[in-house]
Order: sequence, then C-alpha cells, then structure tokens
Amino acid sequence: MNFDKLALKYGTPLYVYDFDYFKNRFKKLKKAFKARKSIIAYAVKANSNLSVIKHFSLLGSGADCVSIGEVKRALLAGVDKYKIIFSGVGKRDDEIKEALSKDILMINVESEAELAKIAEIAKKIGKIARISIRVNPNIDPKTHPYISTGLHENKFGVDIETAKKMYIFAKKSDFLNPIGIHFHIGSQLTQLEPIREASAIVADLVRSLKSINIDIKFFDVGGGLGIRYKEEKLIEPYDYAQAILSTLSGLDVTIICEPGRFLVGNGGYFITKVLYEKVNGDKRFIIVDGAMNDLIRISLYKAYHKIEVLSSVENAEISKANIVGPVCESGDFFAKNIKAPKTNPGDLIVIHSAGAYGFSMSSNYNTRERAAEVAVENGVDRLIRRRETFEDLISCEIDYLV
Ligand SMILES: *Cc1c(COP(=O)(O)O)cnc(C)c1O
Repeated sequence: MNFDKLALKYGTPLYVYDFDYFKNRFKKLKKAFKARKSIIAYAVKANSNLSVIKHFSLLGSGADCVSIGEVKRALLAGVDKYKIIFSGVGKRDDEIKEALSKDILMINVESEAELAKIAEIAKKIGKIARISIRVNPNIDPKTHPYISTGLHENKFGVDIETAKKMYIFAKKSDFLNPIGIHFHIGSQLTQLEPIREASAIVADLVRSLKSINIDIKFFDVGGGLGIRYKEEKLIEPYDYAQAILSTLSGLDVTIICEPGRFLVGNGGYFITKVLYEKVNGDKRFIIVDGAMNDLIRISLYKAYHKIEVLSSVENAEISKANIVGPVCESGDFFAKNIKAPKTNPGDLIVIHSAGAYGFSMSSNYNTRERAAEVAVENGVDRLIRRRETFEDLISCEIDYLV
C-alpha cells in the first residue's frame, strides 16, 4: 500500500481500505462453513460505506443491520433482501413498519414487548413478520466489558425461558412467523469455548422447540470473531465453524454468521499527518491532523492499534512520545509513551487495524469534517467517500432568527 501516494492524492486524515483483503476474509469464513448451508451476513455497523457493503454483496454476502438506516444502506448496495437481518434492542415503530414493508429476511427480536409490537404493526399493514429471537445465553465471552453482550447483565436479548414463551406466542399469532434464532455474545472474541457453550445452549432450545412443532430454519450465531490488533491468540475460522457445527447434530438449519470486525478490521488504515512536535516538561508530543473524532476506539476502549511513524528525518533519534490530535480533550490521543522517531511536519503516521469501527464511529465533534475514504483493489485506488466540507456540517442547521 503506497500511503505517501494516497495521502498526496486524497489528503489527510484519510481512511484506506484494502478490498482484496476484505474479499479474502469473506471467502475464508464462507469456506469454513461449507459443510452446511450458510449465509455470511456482513455486520454493516463495522464499516457502513456503501461501496464496502456493495463489495461484500457482490461476493454473495447478506447484511446484519441495527437500524433502518443500515437496512436501507444494505438494500441500496444491492444486498439480496432475503439475506438482510434487522437486529437491535430498541427499534422504533416506524423502523419496524419499514422493515416489514421492505420484506427483509427477518427481524431479530430482543424483548416480549417488541414481539407484541411487531405483531401489532404486521396486522395493521397486512403482513406476516418473519422473526428470530435473540437469546441471551448468559455466557461470559471474556472480552472488553463494553463489547460484551451475552451476559444477563447486558441489555441484549432475552433469557431462555422468556425466549421459549415468545416462540409459543409467535407460533400462535397469525402475523408472526418464527423462522430463526439468534445469539451474539460479544465482540473481539478470542476464545472458542464461550461460543461453543452458547451455541450448545441455543441448539438445545431449537430441539425443544422442534418437539412442540416450532421449526427453526435459521441458526444465527452472531458475529464477534476477534482479530489481531497486537499479539492476540486468535480463533481460526475453521475451528470456529467446527465448534458451532458440533452443537447442531440432528438439526437441519441454515447457519447465519454476522462478522463485522473479522472481515474489515485489519484491511483498513487510518492515515494522518504530523503538524508539529512539542515538548511539555519531559513529555514529547507529536501533534497530528487526525483526532479522536475520526477514530475513537483508542480513547473509548483503550484499544491498541499498531502505529507506524513514516519519518522523513534522516537517522532520526528515537524517543518516547504521545501522539495526539487537535481536539480539545485530554482523551484525544492515538498513543501514549510509544517509541517514535523524530518527525518533520508533513510526515505520515499510519494507524493499522482501522477498517472496523473506525470511520463508522467517527463524529463531527469540534466541527471537524470527517475524513475521506479510499478503496484499493487490484492496485487501483478509488475515492468511496469524499471529505466533508464545512457546508456539509452546517447543512441541517436553521438560523433561529430567520
Ligand atoms: C456488532 C454486531 C455484530 C458484529 O460484531 P463484530 O464483533 O464486528 O463481528 C454482529 N451481530 C450483532 C447483532 C451485532 O450487534
């Protein structure tokens, strides 16, 4: 990847995505599940750029969406509507109505109240809602607490008993068709055992539903496969698939897997430019043009990202430095006390593993225009989102005196 050339052509801060890498990751995971029917439903929230979704859609991907906006993105990007799932703990009435009228594969339900609401809306508009229920298997996924979702203390899903009640309710309703079951225990998972346990618990529920004539066709195992940011020991896709398949004996289900980070995380780079260096007491700071509004994972989760300093200083002296952005928050840093060569203004800093939850979590805080995004495929670079302008930022605002 020629970051110098790309930075010169598109400016900084800049997101660069390796579309060949994305494709390889997709194929690898799809292959791992080849013993069964499967749908890989890309978790759009990880990186929601239309071209990224389209790239996966052309490979046959479905989409896991957590808002009607994401459903619309998936449809716009050409994803087959029967491969789109709508999840999320708090869907509004208008979102449910629109999802039903767009006839997507299924709505993933996260509470009894939501199920009743979906039945009511389906009745009103004369539809039968295909649904799955998100089961919270109460398994500790052993990941960062902010991205853990499969414990009862987390807000996601319903417990097994409630799920069973809900399936019976759905079966009786003329407006609900329970076709799927879902769990997603967390993100950045690096241990197989919690996934196997969760899958076994949920598969048992599918068996017990079968015994009362509720036939689940889609077994949705969520996303969460971890990636290497630093030295994590990882789950191999093949082992992951085997662990899940081993719990499904006797069940004729299509597996749905909803990877986000696994597909895009390590194929993305965030490129930022050095503005200045300064020293406060004994602290050295490298001040760059990117900031926490562009990539918040480091301040929000204390996430580690590999950082490359492309210094143009000859025989540059190396010393400890903090790499910080221009935003008015002490939390606005990309690295603290890392060894970095002396830099010149204009030198580039490349932050790795920025393809997932990078741009999609970015904001306009401090009235900063969001970065441009570029896709590189077969050596060809294409702009897939132009840099925002000041006019974009104020375009929704209304002068209260006019
Ligand atoms: C966030 C999310 C995913 C994707 O998680 P990754 O860790 O990026 O793979 C999949 N399914 C659901 C329901 C999610 O909320």
